[in-house]
Amino acid sequence: MAQARVLIIDDSPQIHEVLRDLVLQPQGYQVLSAYDGQEGLEMALRERPDLIILDERMPRMTGVEVLEALREKGMDVPVIFTTIHGSEDLVVRVFRLGVRDYVIKPFEPPEMERAVERVLVEARLRAERDRLLQQLQEANRNLERQVQELQTLYSIGRSVTSLLDLDAVLKRVVEAAVFVTRAEEGLLMLVDEKEQELYLRAAKNLDEGTVQGLRIRVDDSLAGTVVQTGRAVLITEENVKVATGYLVQALVYVPVRSAKRGIIGVLGVTNRRTRRSFSQHELGILSALAAYAAIALENAQLYQQVRHQADELAAALARSQELESLKSQFIQNVSHELRSPLALIRGHAELLINGELGELNPEQARSLEIIARRAQMLGELVQDITLILEAEARPLEVMPVPLDELARAAVDDFQVAAERSQLALNLQIAPDIPPVGGESLYLRRVLDNLIGNAIKFTPAGGTITVQVWQNGQMVHLQVADTGVGIPPDQKERIFERFYQVDGSTKRRHGGMGLGLALVKEIVEIHGGKVEVESKLGEGSAFTISLPIYRK
Ligand code: ADP
Repeated sequence: MAQARVLIIDDSPQIHEVLRDLVLQPQGYQVLSAYDGQEGLEMALRERPDLIILDERMPRMTGVEVLEALREKGMDVPVIFTTIHGSEDLVVRVFRLGVRDYVIKPFEPPEMERAVERVLVEARLRAERDRLLQQLQEANRNLERQVQELQTLYSIGRSVTSLLDLDAVLKRVVEAAVFVTRAEEGLLMLVDEKEQELYLRAAKNLDEGTVQGLRIRVDDSLAGTVVQTGRAVLITEENVKVATGYLVQALVYVPVRSAKRGIIGVLGVTNRRTRRSFSQHELGILSALAAYAAIALENAQLYQQVRHQADELAAALARSQELESLKSQFIQNVSHELRSPLALIRGHAELLINGELGELNPEQARSLEIIARRAQMLGELVQDITLILEAEARPLEVMPVPLDELARAAVDDFQVAAERSQLALNLQIAPDIPPVGGESLYLRRVLDNLIGNAIKFTPAGGTITVQVWQNGQMVHLQVADTGVGIPPDQKERIFERFYQVDGSTKRRHGGMGLGLALVKEIVEIHGGKVEVESKLGEGSAFTISLPIYRK
């Protein structure tokens, strides 16, 4: 080992000379010399040599005493012990005190040279081993620290996604920031856009009293600078005055950045007492935590928005349900109130027409017929309204209904009206039509409405044909006319409640636009469908298809 420093402690100048000139200097070692034990001890403590060659018998202090004193001072230096005679006791004692080699005087220079070489190599190896061990321990500590950091980040990540309590998440973020950076205090401040201020949202190790309700200006604070520039700040070993009013020795502030709203706050850690400053690595971890805080804040905002919208929707739904039921109730009341007076009007009109209350002149008779017909129409309308509401309110009672017979009866009933409008009303029924499933009262209204419309919308001289046939599992019924037809863009709309192709008040035809809506709704609750084919000016054909009755 070049340049190793060797201290000789011996009271004999000759020994010094031999060791220096023949053993140590030729090998390039630096030589320190002490001539008694006391001087040697002081020099050893002061100069910290790499090796001591120590004589046993000296004035003032023996070699053994020097060894004991060195040991007491905690100095671990390799020693080669020399003595004129060696008792076994002494050997054991000095080796216990940490001596590395023992050389009997007088010695030959090569013998001492080998001993020095060996002890120094051994010491070097030992030092190397200690250094490696230390490095290993250091690496291990770092690794443990990193694992802890990762675990902290991971658990924060999980709580961000699983905890809905924003306060709890943000508190945890600040706690984690303090923990992983080994800081003394931590805080999270958020931007109040309107006031251009930052307010405290969560804190760790800050005196409650001092920081409660803390607000600072964005344009006049260190944290505000972070918000404005979007850059982290790392301050080392300085007395900086911060938002909390404290003087701190070291601090890191990182921006909390939201994807949508830009910079929404600042996450920071500080040391008030210790001068330990924060590293770039710790700044990095803090940034990761700030990202978690941003996500938590964003989630909370979205959640609130969604909840607000859901509340609004629920309220709107409740309102519309209430309106709907009020409307039904109203219509039902009106229908009921209309039915009895209508029946009365019709009854009396009939009495008069039949001449049971005396002869009528032709004008009176015509007037009465109009009254009776209108009363009849009104009655039908009231029936439609009642039926459509009823169909909504209660489930269908399914029975076998012979659609062919229903069609025959309807056509019979409309014959007079058709003749009056100068229309031919024909019926074509295929043989062996199986019954369909449903309620005949409803299905009869379907036929009445379809045939009634056909008569209404077909000019004199036209033809109306009602057909019934079976195809597979369905029975079809069609009412075709040679009337005015329906514009193609209205074909769907005519099935809406209260919809009419010509909705003007100057319409020639009566009605409320409820008939086809009733047809469609009734057919559909029977598991069937309605289709319409039409050509403007040529005529229309409405076809309903209903499933065959099954027990
Ligand atoms: P309303 O007949 O009481 O007006 P509907 O619901 O029965 O109500 O019919 C809605 C509209 O569909 C009618 O106003 C009419 O414009 C059109 N429409 C229905 N049937 C026919 C038809 N056979 N020919 C032409 N247009 C029709």
